Amino acid sequence: MTYVRSVLTAAKTIAIEQAEMPVTIEPGWVRLRLATASICGTDMHYFRHFANAGFQLDYPVTLGHEACAYVEDANGSALMPGQLVAINPVIACGVCEKCLAGDINMCATKRFPGSATTKPHIDGFFRQTFDFPAKCLTALPEGIDTDHLTFAEPLSCAMHAVNKAQVTTGDKVLVTGCGPMGLLAVVAAVAKGASVDVTDIKRAATQAALAVGAKAAYVAGEDDMGQLANRYDVVIEASGSPHGYNQALDACRKQGTVSILSLIQPSAVPIDLHLVALKEIHCVGSILYTSEFADAVALVRSRTVDFEAIIAGRFHVAETQQACELMASGAAIGKVLIKPE
Ligand SMILES: [Zn+2]
Ligand SMILES: [Zn+2]
Repeated sequence: MTYVRSVLTAAKTIAIEQAEMPVTIEPGWVRLRLATASICGTDMHYFRHFANAGFQLDYPVTLGHEACAYVEDANGSALMPGQLVAINPVIACGVCEKCLAGDINMCATKRFPGSATTKPHIDGFFRQTFDFPAKCLTALPEGIDTDHLTFAEPLSCAMHAVNKAQVTTGDKVLVTGCGPMGLLAVVAAVAKGASVDVTDIKRAATQAALAVGAKAAYVAGEDDMGQLANRYDVVIEASGSPHGYNQALDACRKQGTVSILSLIQPSAVPIDLHLVALKEIHCVGSILYTSEFADAVALVRSRTVDFEAIIAGRFHVAETQQACELMASGAAIGKVLIKPE
């Protein structure tokens, strides 16, 4: 069968191809038809540089690891053709010490689609049809908006950063950065019962945060950021900027926690590490997620989150180049979605 796929062939260059699916499906894998995918910051690093965090792609690859899909060929699994599934893109080994402890994000041999860290690379989800392991799929009933279900994966990452910071009811939380991950960190912290404020350099981005439950917004360059000093039990760093990290250290109260959700790219900006010592700040790292994927699917199913407020646009697979360019321009507020056609 033929299908349309997008392929990142070089930095800032996405080719659209008619491709042929293999006749056979790998044992344990299922053939899927894309419902909705969404573009991640990670995809943007590959789009801009053909690399992410120092990991270079070896050859062209289809990007995308956030998606939900319909089962086309269940390939002997318990799934039913036509069934809607949420996709956990982490293909963990399942047998190592970390996997057995539930820490699939720490599995040394885990595989991940559309990523240079997985060799050989696995093509991602910005295509109409693809195969994926049945063990990574969660079957869901009809009636769920697939444009919202695609948020399950990035929301899992945000929930993990919130859980690593042990956010509880009544905590005062600041999220630095209102890109898609910051907005989802607001959703995750609000779901924990926290009172959440946000910062960003763009007023419009902070307005999206207010729409999903943030209480107050502060815009760098317009508002007095000094007023945030020492006010927050937890700061979730989601800007990806070392300046955002310094803002987080400043805003964190004594013996509070700074949780790093963003993947801060290597830079030469000085970090105010003395504040970590003087205030005994707990700094916690966070990558992917462990058990949060099921929690994220449940939160999407609860229909309590206004995901429409954080959707920036919808594009077809054949328009993946334009979709990535919109994200790269910085003009998009929220997530850019990819639809099969
Ligand atoms: Zn992602
Ligand atoms: Zn493992």
